[in-house]
Amino acid sequence: MLNHAGYDNRARYDLPGPLSRRLSRPPPLRYATRMPADDRTQRAKRIAANLGFDRVGIAPPGPPPHADFLDTWLARGFAGQMRYLHRYRDLRLDPRRLLPGARSVICVAMNYHQPDPPESDGASEEPHGRFARYAWGGDYHVLIRQRLDALVERLREAIDETFDVRPFVDTAPVLERPLAATAGLGWIGKNTMLIVPRMGSFVFLGGVVTTLELDTDEPVPDRCGRCRRCIEACPTGALATPYVMDASRCLSYLTIELRDAIPAEFRDALDGRIFGCDACQRACPHNRRAPETTEPGLRVRFPAPRVPLLTVLGWSPEAYAQATGGRAVGRATLSMLRRNAVIALGNLGDRRHQPILEAIVAQGDSELADHARWALRCIASRR
Ligand code: SF4
Ligand code: SF4
Repeated sequence: MLNHAGYDNRARYDLPGPLSRRLSRPPPLRYATRMPADDRTQRAKRIAANLGFDRVGIAPPGPPPHADFLDTWLARGFAGQMRYLHRYRDLRLDPRRLLPGARSVICVAMNYHQPDPPESDGASEEPHGRFARYAWGGDYHVLIRQRLDALVERLREAIDETFDVRPFVDTAPVLERPLAATAGLGWIGKNTMLIVPRMGSFVFLGGVVTTLELDTDEPVPDRCGRCRRCIEACPTGALATPYVMDASRCLSYLTIELRDAIPAEFRDALDGRIFGCDACQRACPHNRRAPETTEPGLRVRFPAPRVPLLTVLGWSPEAYAQATGGRAVGRATLSMLRRNAVIALGNLGDRRHQPILEAIVAQGDSELADHARWALRCIASRR
């Protein structure tokens, strides 16, 4: 499923190979007897908490409930052009295929919520494009992977047993949200996000499939009740069916995943967003009192949460690389960010941007020029 938090699954998967073999190197056995599963579990959870994970739970390694929903979802074309989601189906549906002999999945969540900066915070009259909240800080793939590796290392020190592991954070064909729900971290809401009780849905997920036997946790009940706020807040109707996202209509997909032209029917809905969308999470009452992240690596970095649209349009490849390096926002290519910025300019309907858009048309990049022509028509229609 499309992750609002920007999966990079088009990148190669971290399939079983030398890394897992290296991580599997057993330490010498010092105990004659195996530690009871509940002791192992408590140790694993304590280590995860000490490494900064806000929640940790254990899921059994089999297919999570409703895993077969993936086939229906793909068959209905809801994945859009994310063809990588069709690959590794069997691994995705059953972590035991990812790691033979797997007995448990350690699932973790890390809160990335931070409040909106004040409107006056450096934002001038200049038009700005908005980034989804998950992209305000450092690249969570790197941060969480390092912590998962540290978790494995410390587990090996704490538990003198031979075990294999397979860490994942958007880097393996794993159904992370259903597994996290099975591990009791939260429930999957009608907006398809994992909602963690007393924390909300602004969380990154990851985990470790392992051959260690650990005590599993119980799922928590769905607390969406009769609420429909996320469905009503979605500007494109991507959540027309509760609990099912048509990713091909979702602004996160359209701004971050789709490399082609953004269909004209969705361009208005983009408003000033140039990377992702948080509307269905912002509308959720369970995010109203979301605590602030305590993780320094996830704090706001330039150029987020807003970046001047004209700056994006003027970025050279070097300036783009400098601005997005080490950040999740680097998931969108420079031409995708420019395309999104052109639409955002059109949505402003300000005649002062006409010369910039005309210059883009004249430059001859056919796809960007097509979006610029659309933006010029928007401006003309608002006169
Ligand atoms: Fe996607 Fe709609 Fe949620 Fe925005 S509000 S992220 S478009 S599902
Ligand atoms: Fe559930 Fe309401 Fe949150 Fe949607 S907005 S996920 S329905 S609680």
